[in-house]
Amino acid sequence: MKPRFAFPLLLVLAVLFPAAASAVTPVCVSILPQKYFLEKIGGDLVDITVLVPPGASPHTYEPKPGQMVAVSKAKAYFAIGVPFENAWLGRLKAGNPDMPVVQTQSGVEKIPMAAHSEHEEAHAGKAEGDDHEEHAGLDPHIWLDPNLVKIQAKNIVEGLKTADPANAAAYAANYRTFLKECDALDATIRKTLAAASAAHSSFIVFHPSWGYFAKAYGLTQIPIEVEGKEPSPKELASLITFARDKGVNVIFVQPQFSEKSASVVAKEAGATLARLDPLAEDWNGNLLHAAEALRNAVK
Ligand code: ZN
Repeated sequence: MKPRFAFPLLLVLAVLFPAAASAVTPVCVSILPQKYFLEKIGGDLVDITVLVPPGASPHTYEPKPGQMVAVSKAKAYFAIGVPFENAWLGRLKAGNPDMPVVQTQSGVEKIPMAAHSEHEEAHAGKAEGDDHEEHAGLDPHIWLDPNLVKIQAKNIVEGLKTADPANAAAYAANYRTFLKECDALDATIRKTLAAASAAHSSFIVFHPSWGYFAKAYGLTQIPIEVEGKEPSPKELASLITFARDKGVNVIFVQPQFSEKSASVVAKEAGATLARLDPLAEDWNGNLLHAAEALRNAVK
């Protein structure tokens, strides 16, 4: 005999979880700031898997087996051109051959990775490391300039419309709202850094993540790291001299890299270490925080 409550229970479930209307599109992204962009443009219509977890470096990350499963079910992969994609995107795609890969960096004009010019001579005689060869090439950190993010947003909205055409109008509306957010953020950063830009101020950072940000807002980024490697004692000494001469009081580090050589420069130059995370998930709040931190630190 059937239990009498079976039919009403199913009815209640059907009302609570209408199957067709709640279809969410599963997508994958490489880094946390992209999750922010996809949430803004995709809203509740997408379910986002981030490949590089908090604290890991997109230069060297290797996906976990559980993530390979998530990618195998995704309706689109939103790439951004970070180095780990070179090694992994082919393999991820092999597990889901029908999945479109949206190159969100398409149309972004890349700049060379920052190098400290005073270090170039000392570095010239050294063998090139093959694991960090991207550092000798173009700068992948394109998500740290709101105007370049507008180009990425255009690629994201087109990718979402293709993956889920039924909701194209919603994606287009969200995209337009997000462009306004990018413009407002750019204006606020510009205002925050107006005095620093006018003086062409510079700041010292371990890993040169802030090249596009510096270019957009008229600052000069001086990296401690040299083409993906720790600096030599000679290079370190020249940075310390530079920091002392300029009266630099803050050296920036990021959680994905060692703070060792940065703390040596800071100690010798009488400066403190401060963290700027280029990969924070709260992209908007993080760029505002970076602008304020840099305004107070640039020389
Ligand atoms: Zn990096």
